[in-house]
Amino acid sequence: MISEDEVIWAIRTFTSLRIGGRWHVNGVGVYERTGVDELTLVEIHQGKPKILDYNEMSLFESHDHLQLLAEELGWKMIQSVEKAWDYDGKLMNIPDELIGRAAVCDADCGVIVRVEPAESGTVHALIENGICPYCNEKGFTKKWNDVWVVVDDTGARLKMAKKEEEE
Ligand SMILES: [Zn+2]
Repeated sequence: MISEDEVIWAIRTFTSLRIGGRWHVNGVGVYERTGVDELTLVEIHQGKPKILDYNEMSLFESHDHLQLLAEELGWKMIQSVEKAWDYDGKLMNIPDELIGRAAVCDADCGVIVRVEPAESGTVHALIENGICPYCNEKGFTKKWNDVWVVVDDTGARLKMAKKEEEE
């Protein structure tokens, strides 16, 4: 999957940064060279969703690909995300003091939301006006307004399966 050209490109690009230097990758995020052979993802920029044509995909389009390249070169890739930006270029609101807090949807759909740090690979949803991102009913108190959360729908799926069983 990784070509020799890509490896050469990666060596050039990664080593062109001084330690402490930062590198912006459009639609992916910002990386900092945090060691001789270490890169850290420090910002996430959600790219606009689009139809991907693998042939036209540039190297720059995903964190996973960059991570593979780094591994290929024996570099460490770590994540310590300070800021995450949503699809519209707005800063995602993930308050530090709420990290680890969870709440159950008051509309009883079975969903639990949890505040987790932004990381590549985790999917966050926005709570607006207390509306549950799963059932679309009023499910959360004011404290949760405009907070980006991870949605755990395990309970909701179990409820649905149980209902189908009974019908
Ligand atoms: Zn709900």
